Amino acid sequence: MLSIKNHLLEGDLVTQRSTPNKGGKLVAEYLVYHYTAGSSARSSADWLCNPAAKASAHLVLGREGEIIQLAPFNVVTWHAGISHWAGLTGMNNYSIGIEMDNAGILKSAGDAYTSSFGKVYPRSDVVLAKHKHDSVERAWHAYTAAQIERAFELAELLFSHYPLKEVLGHEDIARGRKSDPGPAFPLGSVASRVAGRLEDDFPRYVVISTSLNIRSAPDAAAAMVAPALKKGTEVALLEAGERWSRVEVVGKGDTEGWVFNAYLQAVPAAAPAKPKAKAKGG
Ligand SMILES: [Zn+2]
Repeated sequence: MLSIKNHLLEGDLVTQRSTPNKGGKLVAEYLVYHYTAGSSARSSADWLCNPAAKASAHLVLGREGEIIQLAPFNVVTWHAGISHWAGLTGMNNYSIGIEMDNAGILKSAGDAYTSSFGKVYPRSDVVLAKHKHDSVERAWHAYTAAQIERAFELAELLFSHYPLKEVLGHEDIARGRKSDPGPAFPLGSVASRVAGRLEDDFPRYVVISTSLNIRSAPDAAAAMVAPALKKGTEVALLEAGERWSRVEVVGKGDTEGWVFNAYLQAVPAAAPAKPKAKAKGG
């Protein structure tokens, strides 16, 4: 069972270290998953604590589910590099970064596979898949069940503790430059677990116009963040304004933006006789 105290993680298999590669106050809006492309959690943590790395993350998540925290969650770490998302650039300033111990893309070598640093992996440690931003099938180092379980647990804990809006991969915010955490990691499932939790907490509205533009800011001139919402689309109200409100499309945790209030209608709360069962993850 993990918990957070003074922006530091506490719980089984959690250790604290302090990286010098950090700076500035962080109010995170996003949670970003990575793989280390390294050979062990320990070696990756060592590197991310080395000033020469000029890189870091908040957490390194090992293959046994062990977690090494390198900086408190309210301090900026250097995991994203050149990156952008939802109109923001330099995502270090907006996100908590989790590095997962994983060798990344592997090369086929006879019956086995090798990593970029020369370690050999059996076929059972490999996932053959196409990256969502690539058309070619590649060999990816598999994550362990313990690691994936912890990744879910961390997302739920961090979303309950901080005003986070979305789960992202480095591959999403540095598209074309980065491929992590890659197709071996169930990023979509982590995102929907957290989106489900989010949507449970916010009032639901439905779109009553034929189509409703969803924009990056409460302004008719702001960019559209997604195709216009069709009549009947359900949204969760995240932030209510006088004329505009920030909403998230129900079931699509990655679609969030501002819509004009006049075209929304509240969905009546469920009848008290049938209280909504709260989905609770493991
Ligand atoms: Zn990364």
